[in-house]
Amino acid sequence: MKKKITIAIDGFSSTGKSTIAKKLAKKLNYIHIDTGAMYRAITLYAMNKEYIKKDFFDKEKLITDLPNINISFKFNKEKNSNDTYLNGENVEDKIRSITLSNFVSHVASIPEVRKKLVKIQREIAKNKGVVMDGRDIGTVVLPNADLKLFLTASADKRATRRYKELISKGEKVSFDEVLKNVQDRDFFDSNRSDSPLTEAEDAINIDNSDMGLEEQFEHIMGLINNL
Ligand code: C5P
Repeated sequence: MKKKITIAIDGFSSTGKSTIAKKLAKKLNYIHIDTGAMYRAITLYAMNKEYIKKDFFDKEKLITDLPNINISFKFNKEKNSNDTYLNGENVEDKIRSITLSNFVSHVASIPEVRKKLVKIQREIAKNKGVVMDGRDIGTVVLPNADLKLFLTASADKRATRRYKELISKGEKVSFDEVLKNVQDRDFFDSNRSDSPLTEAEDAINIDNSDMGLEEQFEHIMGLINNL
C-alpha cells in the first residue's frame, strides 16, 4: 500500500475507535484525528461559559458564540498522539470527564456545531494520509474514504473499558453511571436528526467484544494491504 489513503472509523461509544486509529496512524505515518475530542472541546467551552449545566442548555448562546471557538490539534511527542486545543489551551485532560460526557451528545446534535467541525475535518483530510474516527465520518464527513470501518462491541464490554480508564485517571465514578452514559449516548447519537450515528453501506463491521488490540490491528492492516 504505497499511495496515501483516507481511513474512516465510526462506531458506538467506547468501542476503542481512537485507540486503534492512533495505532494505525503511527504504523502508516498518517495523521490521526479524533473528531469526538472536537465535540468534547466545544462542550467544555459551553460548560465554562455556563451555557450548559444540569437540566439547562442555552443553545442559542452557544450558536452565537461559535465564531469565537477555535479547535486545533498539536502532536505530543511524549505521548505519540495529538492533544486537543481549545482557543490555544491544551484541554486534553479536561474533556473526558463523566460530567462532560453527559453533555456532549446534546452539543453534538446542534447542526451549526456540526457544520463548523465538519468543515475543519474535511480540510484536514483533503491531502489524504489520515485516519479519522467519530460517528459520521464514513457517512457524512468523508463519504469517499478509501476504507470505512464500523466498530461495535457489547455495551457491557464497552462500559467496562471506559470505567477502567476513568478510574485509572482518578475519577470518582460508578460502573452503572458509565454504563448509563454509554447507552444514553448511543441512543442520542443514533436518533438525532443531523448526521445520526449509522453504519455506512460500504463499511466493514468489526465486533471487537472478544478481540484484543493486536488482533484488530492485524485484521485492519490486512484489509489495508488488500486495497
Ligand atoms: O468519540 P467520543 O466518545 O469521544 O465522542 C463524544 C461524542 O461526540 C459522541 O457521543 C457524539 O455525541 C459526538 N460525536 C459526534 N460525531 C462525531 C464524533 C463524536 O456526534 N464524528
